[in-house]
Order: sequence, then C-alpha cells, then structure tokens
Amino acid sequence: MNNIPDISFVVPMYNEEDVIATFFSTMDKTLKKIPQYTYEFICVNDGSKDKTLPILKEYATKDRRIKIISFSRNFYKEQALFAGLEASSGRCVIPMDADLQDPPALILKFIKKWQEGYEVVYGVRTERTKDTLIKRITANLFYKIFNFIADRPIPANTGDYRLMDRKVVDAILQIKENKLFMKGIFSWVGFKSCGVEYQRPKRAAGKTKFNYWKLWNFALDGITASTTLPLRIWTYIGSFIAAISGLYALYIIGRTLFMGVSVPGYASLLVCILFFGSVQLIVLGIFGEYIGRIFMEVKRRPRYIIDEKINLIEHDKI
Ligand code: UDP
Ligand code: MG
Repeated sequence: MNNIPDISFVVPMYNEEDVIATFFSTMDKTLKKIPQYTYEFICVNDGSKDKTLPILKEYATKDRRIKIISFSRNFYKEQALFAGLEASSGRCVIPMDADLQDPPALILKFIKKWQEGYEVVYGVRTERTKDTLIKRITANLFYKIFNFIADRPIPANTGDYRLMDRKVVDAILQIKENKLFMKGIFSWVGFKSCGVEYQRPKRAAGKTKFNYWKLWNFALDGITASTTLPLRIWTYIGSFIAAISGLYALYIIGRTLFMGVSVPGYASLLVCILFFGSVQLIVLGIFGEYIGRIFMEVKRRPRYIIDEKINLIEHDKI
C-alpha cells in the first residue's frame, strides 16, 4: 500500500499562536467536503518565540498527518516554504499562510483545475480592499517594475497560495540557490498554469510579520534574484551620457578655439561633478547588491537549520 497523500499543505508559521486553532478547524471543515483526497500538513515553525510550537505539537500527537519541521531560529518565510516543499510527499502541494488570508474554500477550485490537467493553479487577488492603501500601491508598483525588468514575469497580484503538481515541486527542488525568492522561482520553472481569482480576506488573528522595511528588502532581493538588467542597463546609460558629453566637449573646444577662454562656468562644473558623482554612487550601490548576493551564494551555507522534526519518518524526504 502506498502512503503518499494526494495533497501536502505547506504552512510556514512564525508566531502564529493566535490563529493555529482557527486554521485547523477551518481546514477540517473544507477537507470534509473532499473526503476522497488524502492529505498531510507540513507545518514549518520558523523560529517562533511564542507558543506556536507547543500548540502544533499537541495537534501532531493527535493526528499523525500533521507533521512539523521546527527551525533553530527565524529563517524567513521563503526558506520555510522551501523546507516544507522538501519535506512534502503529496501528489500535489499547496503552500498556505497560517492566518487564513489564503481562503481554504479555494482549494476545491484548485483541485478541479488540477484534475483538468493544469500543473500549476495559482490564486489571483482580485481586490485588496482589506490591505492598507500604501500596501496596495507599493505592491502594485512592485509587480509593475518587476515585470518590466525581469526575465520571467510573475502574474500580478499572485502570492504563494497555489497548487503545484509533484512534477513542478520536483523541478523547484532542483534549484540550488541559497537566497530564495519563491514567487520568481514558481514562475521560472514554467509548466501548464492557470489562475483562479479570489478576494483576499483580513488576517484571522494576530499581526502581519512584514513591515515596510522588510518588504522593501524583500523586493530588492526579488529583483536581484531574478534579473541582471540593473547591471546591464549602465552600459546603455553610460554610452548615452558619453555621447552627449562628447558633443558638449566638441562645443567647448570649438568655442575656446574660436572665441578664447571664458572663465565663468562654475555652476555647470559643479552640476556635472555632482551629477556624475551620484550616478557613480548609484551604480556602485547596484553592483554592491549583486556582489552581496554572490557572496551569500558562494558561502554555500545551508538554507536553514532544523532543530526538530515531528511525524516525519526516515523515509520521508527530509
Ligand atoms: N512567516 C514565516 N516567517 C516569517 C514571516 C512570516 O514563516 O519570518 C509566515 C507567517 O506565519 C504566515 C505567512 O508567513 O503564515 C505570511 O505572513 P503574514 O501573514 O505576516 O504576511 P502578510 O499576509 O501580511 O503579507
Ligand atoms: Mg497574512
């Protein structure tokens, strides 16, 4: 008898003590509607400092389908997701947030599309009225900029909530990068995909774990992980500025030859020095971003450290 479940739910959790009970009870109700599908939960405790782990353990002793990977510290959501994918064994995998902002009712639609032959079915947020205005604007801007410059666009308003066939998960697991940007990776692997729309509800309980500074850094990481355009673009900008400078130089030389030396020019000189100085600093900053990335990658540290595993037996993948 094979004990591969049909669906693996991968749930990263960081200080989620307030929502765990609601999460499991809501999932229970939803899964009762599809009794023909077997499932497992891979809950990744991402170094929570509250009672997340003990609460999870209680659930895990009652139900062996609830499996836990507990990190030694907070390694961030991307690493938690990857660890969950590595430990999952289902015929398809659904990563979900613990806070019920990824509505479980959508699972039924995901599965329907999967049965129709789609290998990736992702949730598309139609309206984000429950998010703050700034979050909506910045998120929109991020998708616009990202899709303009990235090699592989990501569908706008798509999070990590999706169903992936085992084939897709195995493809993702071949990726050796250390610093992960899962949204980029999801779209990079390709496969037959479609979107299902949903309205993103409010957090069921607890607080968001992402402040704007974290989101900003996350956006930078996402871009440097997905494209080298910010590096390449300077060849063109440089050539353009060089061409203009060349023409201006010719004009200055000509004017000096024919009309003699004219001393004024302090303002233009200062503007040029400041302008080119700042352009160079910006370029250095961008180089720095990529060098930092190379540095992190060549260190080859493990993506995360596991402190404890529960209900994951040896023949499971992790
Ligand atoms: N999360 C995590 N590690 C972190 C931050 C968040 O595992 O360092 C988890 C969190 O517990 C939740 C999911 O990632 O299950 C999404 O986080 P959150 O709801 O705070 O993000 P938002 O929905 O506000 O973007
Ligand atoms: Mg949330």
